[in-house]
Amino acid sequence: MATLASPWDLHCHSTASDGLLAPEAVVRRAQGNGVTMLALTDHDDLDGLAAAEKTAGEVGLRLINGVEISIQWESTSIHIVGLGFDRQEARLNQGLAAIRSGRVTRAQRMAEALDKIGIHGVLEGAMKYAANPSLISRAHFARYLVEIGICKDVHAVFESYLTPGKPGYVEHQWASLEDAVTWINGAGGVAVVAHPGRYRISNVEMRRFLGQFKDVGGSGVEVVSGSHTPDQILQYARYARQYGFLASLGSDFHGPEESYVDLGRIGPLPEDLIPVWTWFD
Ligand code: AMP
Ligand code: MN
Ligand code: MN
Ligand code: MN
Repeated sequence: MATLASPWDLHCHSTASDGLLAPEAVVRRAQGNGVTMLALTDHDDLDGLAAAEKTAGEVGLRLINGVEISIQWESTSIHIVGLGFDRQEARLNQGLAAIRSGRVTRAQRMAEALDKIGIHGVLEGAMKYAANPSLISRAHFARYLVEIGICKDVHAVFESYLTPGKPGYVEHQWASLEDAVTWINGAGGVAVVAHPGRYRISNVEMRRFLGQFKDVGGSGVEVVSGSHTPDQILQYARYARQYGFLASLGSDFHGPEESYVDLGRIGPLPEDLIPVWTWFD
């Protein structure tokens, strides 16, 4: 099979959150892979965007401001991607700052939970991996637990320690759905449901979620995602048609060793869908 290659990639991470490459390196790698429009969508943080935009100007790639906001919907953690907003806008920045302070508290509680099962010093260990300490993530915990030999790779750490019901998992109250969408729209951006196929909720719950997302002002869904199966691509294409959502696509690249899908190695969107990038032109 020929290598997939998309000139658009609207979901990826840098060291401003839990990615392994600096924003400049993410942009250069994307350009090298043939991407001409890239959104850097770090978790709950806009810190990488200025450097990414500068590099994008140097290499001739269009950088779209992006963010991936962590929300709590009923009892599920969901991610909402914001694209094309004004990154100076005050309310969005304040909202993201509040989520980040919650992250630090959660990280302390995760380390305490792991300490109780005999894995000590994990907060300090995980922090070594967090170039941006206010954005401490479960991914940083996972990298440290691999380093000390608890599991062979980060995916195994998530399965055994960091997902609901496992000893290092701590329930957390993120932003609400309405807050996240309101902040993105208020900053002039467009709100998109990140990798909808990843959430462990029923189809009935997913439809309820998508209905609420639309009601509060959400505009799009990621149809093609690095973490979607071919069946999930078809399923979310159907939802995009039914709900009238714009369709997005993104690799969700975190780093060369950790991600299954590289920058731009995705796509294409089903042809009849309206791509979210029509909104940027
Ligand atoms: P957090 O935002 O701190 O809850 O961490 C979530 C991040 O952990 C995601 O954005 C992914 O980068 C990573 N992650 C979540 N689940 C897995 C998994 N099963 N395997 C590897 N990484 C994962
Ligand atoms: Mn991540
Ligand atoms: Mn995500
Ligand atoms: Mn992501």
